[in-house]
Amino acid sequence: MVLTRKSQLNSKPEEQRKSPKKQWSLKDFEIGKPLGKGKFGRVYVARELQSKYIVALKVIFKEQINKYKIHYQLRREMEIQTSLRHPNILRLYGWFHDDERIFLILEYAHRCELYGLLRKNGHLSKKASRNGDYYSFFYIASLTNALAYCHEKHVIHRDIKPENLLLDHESRLKIADFGWSVQSRSKRHTMCGTLDYLAPEMVENKAHDYAVDNWTLGILCYEFLYGATPFESETQSDTFKRIMRVDLSFPSTPPVSEEAKNLILRLLVRDSAQRLLLQKILEHPWIIKNADPAGTCDT
Ligand code: AMP
Repeated sequence: MVLTRKSQLNSKPEEQRKSPKKQWSLKDFEIGKPLGKGKFGRVYVARELQSKYIVALKVIFKEQINKYKIHYQLRREMEIQTSLRHPNILRLYGWFHDDERIFLILEYAHRCELYGLLRKNGHLSKKASRNGDYYSFFYIASLTNALAYCHEKHVIHRDIKPENLLLDHESRLKIADFGWSVQSRSKRHTMCGTLDYLAPEMVENKAHDYAVDNWTLGILCYEFLYGATPFESETQSDTFKRIMRVDLSFPSTPPVSEEAKNLILRLLVRDSAQRLLLQKILEHPWIIKNADPAGTCDT
C-alpha cells in the first residue's frame, strides 16, 4: 500500500503542533504494553519520545490488508477519522508505514472498551451512576452529540456497537473504528455493520442514509439498560425477522423508566423517515432529566 499523504500528529503534543508535516517513524516512539488485538493487527500503548505524549499505536500488517482486500476501507477510515474533531470521537493523529506494517497513531483511551463494562456488569449498573439513574443516558447523550457532529460532516458511521466505543481516563466515551463509515450526501447500498445493530433498511439491503445511526442508538440504549440487544435470537435469520417486524419487548427486570422506553420506541421505528432526529433525542425528557452531555462522571 502506498501512502501518499504525509503523516501528521497535528494537535498534541506541542512540538508536533509546530511541525505538523513531520514524517513519523517507529524510532519516534517507545512501545509499551499491548492494549488489545483486533482482526487486522495489534494495538500498543506508546510514548512519543520528544513530547512524552502517550498514544495508542495500532499496527496493521500489509499482508492482512492484501489478504482481506481492505485497502479502500482502511484508507477511507484513516481519512475520515483524521478529519473529525469532537470530544467523543477518538482522534487519529497520523500514520506512517514501513515495508510490512502500517502504524496508526491514535488517541489513547485509558479505560478501554465500553463492551468490557457491559459484559462485566450485565447492563450499565445503577451503582455506577452519579445521580440515581442508569449510567446509560450519559453515554447515549455523548453518542448523540458525536453522531450529530458526524452527520453534519456527511459521515454516517454505520457500525456503532459497544466494541467500537472506548472510554478515556475520565470515562468519556470515544467513538473509535470508522472502518464501515462513509462520507456521503446520497443514499448508500452496501450492507455492513453488525447483525444485531442493523437497521431494517440495511437488513433488506435497501438504500440507507443517516437514519441507520439513529436506529443503532435505539439498539444501544436498550442494550445499555437491559444488557442485551433487543432482537437477539438463536439464528441470524431469526434476528433478521425480528428486526423486520420490530419485534420489541421490554423485560420487567431490571426496572427501566417509561421515559427511557419511550425514547427506544421512537428510535426503533421501521420507517427511517419517522425515527426521532438526533436533535430531538437531546430534547427528549429522558435525556433532559438525566444528562449532562458535556460533563464526565466517575464509576
Ligand atoms: P481494534 O483493532 O481497533 O479492534 O483494537 C483491538 C483492541 O485494542 C480493542 O479491543 C481495544 O481494547 C484496544 N484498543 C484499540 N484502540 C485503542 C485505543 N485508542 N486506546 C486504548 N485501547 C485501544
